[in-house]
Amino acid sequence: MNEFELIRRFFARQPVSRADVLTGIGDDAALLRPPPGGQLAVTSDLLVAGIHFFPDADPVSIGHKALAVNLSDLAAMGAEPAWFLLNLTLPEADERWLERFCQGMFGLAREFNVQLVGGDTSRGPLAIAIEAHGFVPEGKALLRSGAKPGDRIYVTGTLGDALLALRHRRGELSLSEGDLATAAARLDRPKPRVREGMALRGIASSAIDVSDGLLADLGHILERSGTGARIFLERMPLSPVCRAHLPEAGWDGVLAGGDDYELCFTVPEMNIAALEKLPFAGELRCIGGIEPDHPDQRRCPGISRQPRRRE
Ligand code: ADP
Ligand code: MG
Repeated sequence: MNEFELIRRFFARQPVSRADVLTGIGDDAALLRPPPGGQLAVTSDLLVAGIHFFPDADPVSIGHKALAVNLSDLAAMGAEPAWFLLNLTLPEADERWLERFCQGMFGLAREFNVQLVGGDTSRGPLAIAIEAHGFVPEGKALLRSGAKPGDRIYVTGTLGDALLALRHRRGELSLSEGDLATAAARLDRPKPRVREGMALRGIASSAIDVSDGLLADLGHILERSGTGARIFLERMPLSPVCRAHLPEAGWDGVLAGGDDYELCFTVPEMNIAALEKLPFAGELRCIGGIEPDHPDQRRCPGISRQPRRRE
């Protein structure tokens, strides 16, 4: 199978067809119509076999995750996903692998109505780079830089589950079959918080997605906003599985792990009432508040900040 056949068979036919895609796959460039008055949010993420995922991982999960991490970045901007590009290097044209990869990627694409509009394909070590584009109304994007002292800090969902699954696979701890299934779903098939991000426009003062661990990512908000923060361990949202394994896994796994793909965001007091009216308000947890920056307090005793985890 040559490159053209591969593109035609696996990528040219796809489940999403948007009216704002004037020319998708098949010409030298895609022609797209952004909405009038909207701003374009653009992001990309590179996944390399052996670094970001196990080379023998389920291709459905690889396809899902490659798109999910990009949609999560758009969610953290409050953007509505629209289009994406796929740059792929493959050691060989393994049809079964490609079918399953597409199943994972297009399954998520369908869920969020985001259309594949182009990319590039080459032989090489397995690596997947996706670039995703989304829309946000003028001036409404959620930036990292908007947090102010007095704002409350929230997270969606629960933290720490994905790292448990990773540590099980690395042989660092042992989960029961049921616990592993729950944790592995978080690691392999993260659900980007797109609807939440869009609903937080006009309510949150800053936002980020938790891809490198809460401390690191909240740290980016604090750095860009020039503030400090106080967070409370006892308020951390933990799943039953994570809570059960906390004694052996430790708080590092919750705070300095990664791959949670939840949103961490700040909300000024005057917007709390609006926040509490959101349909997913029950899934949000206030974990602390923004404070003025105290350079002498920039340490978290007992918690080591880890660089971005690689598998
Ligand atoms: P060019 O030589 O101009 O780069 P290609 O032969 O690489 O063109 O690609 C032909 C068409 O297929 C283009 O529209 C391109 O965007 C699309 N395409 C190539 N690889 C992929 C891919 N992995 N996913 C989606 N579209 C792709
Ligand atoms: Mg090309």
